[in-house]
Amino acid sequence: MTVALLSDVHANLVALEAVLADLPGGVDAIWVMGDTVGYGPDPADTLALLRGRHAWLVAGNHDRAVATGEGLELFNPAARAAATAHHTWLGAEDRDVLAAMPLTLVPAPGYTICHGSPRDPLWEYVFDARAASFAMADLATARCCVGHTHVPATFRTGDGRTMVNPGSVGQPRDGDPRAAYALLEPGTGDVTFRRVGYDIAETQRRMHERKLPEMLADRLSFGL
Ligand code: ZN
Repeated sequence: MTVALLSDVHANLVALEAVLADLPGGVDAIWVMGDTVGYGPDPADTLALLRGRHAWLVAGNHDRAVATGEGLELFNPAARAAATAHHTWLGAEDRDVLAAMPLTLVPAPGYTICHGSPRDPLWEYVFDARAASFAMADLATARCCVGHTHVPATFRTGDGRTMVNPGSVGQPRDGDPRAAYALLEPGTGDVTFRRVGYDIAETQRRMHERKLPEMLADRLSFGL
């Protein structure tokens, strides 16, 4: 069994299509660690494509903010403007789907998936093994997959737990503008991090056309 780990697609349909086209044969499942919407130009089509692929989807802070307004006051002005725009573009059914996404899921034995961290699924950023250790202390599974930081990483804790973050499909922040994702072999725990070039200019064109904040489009060129 091979699983594709995707996170923080952020309504970047062009990047998502490039990642899905890059998946090797034999991928049996897609796990998505939240923030499917927010920031980008194509929230409805991005959500529809992932649901059509029967992806496992958990809620991110942007998904909640778009669906219900929860946490919107914590966003910077550009993020808030995009989330508010997505709220109005999406139909009631899509908003209901986003609002109903669970905070955590166990898509395979031994694995929990969530957006930020197991102890604070919507908001905690985990950037090192020490933070991962605290965040996983009460977790029933030894392994978890997260997103939220937009930076690919694997953290191994002193008590033998593992946290994997595949990075962001739609808005990488590690200085590499290519879409990030990872392949996981759940049986062995082996993870392969992958990067895929996509047509960034096309995503930026759509963002401009849909009057999203310019800085959100500009940053895609730099992966920051
Ligand atoms: Zn995000």
